[in-house]
Amino acid sequence: MLTCSNSDWAFSVPVALTLGVCLGVILLGRWVARQRYFPGRNSFIMMHSASLWWMLAAALEMAAQAPGCKVLWATMAWPGIVTVPTFWAVFLWQYVNSARQSLPARGLLGLTLAPLLIWLMALSNPWHGLFYGAGTAPIGAEHGAPIRYQHGPLFHLAAVYVYLFMAFCMGIVIRAAAVSYGVYRRHYLAFVFVTAVPWVANIAYVGFGWMLFGFDPTPFSFAFTLAAFAWLIVGVRLFDLLPVARHLLLEALLDPVLVVDPQWRVIEANPEALKLAGLESEWQGLKLSDWPVFGRDLQALIAAQPDTGREQLLILTSSARYFEVRVRGIERVTRDGPVLLGKMLYLRDVTQRHLSELKLAEALAVSEERLRTISSLHEQLRDQALCDPLTGLYNRRHLDEFFGRELARAQREQAPLALALIDLDHFKRLNDEFGHLVGDEVLKAVAQHLLDSLRVSDAVFRIGGEEFLLILPNADAEEAHKRLEAICQRLAASALPTRSGPRHVTLSAGLAVYPAQGQALDELLHAADVALYEAKRTGRNRVRLGVPS
Ligand code: GH3
Ligand code: MG
Ligand code: MG
Repeated sequence: MLTCSNSDWAFSVPVALTLGVCLGVILLGRWVARQRYFPGRNSFIMMHSASLWWMLAAALEMAAQAPGCKVLWATMAWPGIVTVPTFWAVFLWQYVNSARQSLPARGLLGLTLAPLLIWLMALSNPWHGLFYGAGTAPIGAEHGAPIRYQHGPLFHLAAVYVYLFMAFCMGIVIRAAAVSYGVYRRHYLAFVFVTAVPWVANIAYVGFGWMLFGFDPTPFSFAFTLAAFAWLIVGVRLFDLLPVARHLLLEALLDPVLVVDPQWRVIEANPEALKLAGLESEWQGLKLSDWPVFGRDLQALIAAQPDTGREQLLILTSSARYFEVRVRGIERVTRDGPVLLGKMLYLRDVTQRHLSELKLAEALAVSEERLRTISSLHEQLRDQALCDPLTGLYNRRHLDEFFGRELARAQREQAPLALALIDLDHFKRLNDEFGHLVGDEVLKAVAQHLLDSLRVSDAVFRIGGEEFLLILPNADAEEAHKRLEAICQRLAASALPTRSGPRHVTLSAGLAVYPAQGQALDELLHAADVALYEAKRTGRNRVRLGVPS
């Protein structure tokens, strides 16, 4: 090798082309290494490193002028030649299956074994001649002419190994293209194409002796794969097509979206989520509870819910805004069952809706309250309309209704119904002497006196200034007269308490009884009025029974 490194070199167009492709591979590798993660990324980089090795060896072979040196560089290419399809297969397998774990060390070691072994077989060729046959020689007599290799059985063994991997690669991508749809299918078809080109070039070389610039065309085909990958990556965004699409979607969303891992660390957040929290940078990996504004509430809210792994709906109140929170578990299905990788939190701003609902509920409560007030006022008004405010007795308005009912019953049951008109005696005088307020107190005391004298079925009304009406159902003239007399006498004997000391007052009453003195209220009132007048006329403080009309 030392001799060869000092031997003649010639720089030609194919060498420049190969070195150019090498540079491209280095740049691509660097770019891919900096990309966001995609499945099989390490294998992808490994595969390109191997192709770089292969191409460098090919460039050296082309540049070297001595035939022996050319063969030596060709031999040096083998670890790269075998590693390329090996890791291409691993990459495709990982990419298509979205395998996130990297290859275990043992697997990695196993996969590098064959390239090393084949390399050894090639290196030891001078001793056994089984890799390149004795016919391996320059194709022409001129200095630096390319070598035509005579392939021995060990070479074919290596080729079979390589082709097995390439077949495996084709199988993976064709199957992936077959079972997918739309953009995914086009994506995998591009893979099929990119995989096929070096394969076709290699088969053309090994099977049919087809050469480019007098060399194995396979490394040159990497120029194509490189261009294709560059186009797929930069133009079509091959590796991060879906992540980018998802990322764009997240960015475009007007609602905050966050992704947290099982330790509640935020690993993804869209601009809306950052805006809501007032964060700009250094948020990745921050615990959700440490997120400003809503983090603590949101974590507490979600943690308080049973972890169903399914979508949940919660309401988050934060900085006068309301959010409907959808929580979705992100799971990976493994042989041992699903494993929770994290949660996606989707916050929908429902402030407007929520405020309208609140306003509506408030308005409803207010109108219910108003309705209650109105009904209670209505009841009060009704009571006030039917009751006299001074004495609390029923007034004239209630009389018609009450009397109508009692009269109907009396008619039905053919029972008597007594009615007494009461007027206080010389009340004006009492007013004049002690004042109106004392007069009022006397009126109240008389009302109470009358109430105390009633039975359950009886009723008393204040129908004028100091005039009362008594209705005594089922009382005939005799009984009514007796009871009125008793009331009259007891009142006359009572000292009524007032602010100016106890006062005495008497009453006169005119009595009318259904059916004897009348059939209707008017008739009965008239008869009672006549009887009252008679009571006044005959000296007051007495009861008179009306005459039949
Ligand atoms: P008589 O024995 O003839 O009935 O004599 P009287 O003074 O009672 O005469 P009348 O029944 O005509 O007079 C009623 C008086 O009652 C007139 C008024 O001064 C008084 N009065 C009417 N309403 C009220 C009231 O609400 N409060 C008070 N304090 N006095 C009233
Ligand atoms: Mg009067
Ligand atoms: Mg009077």
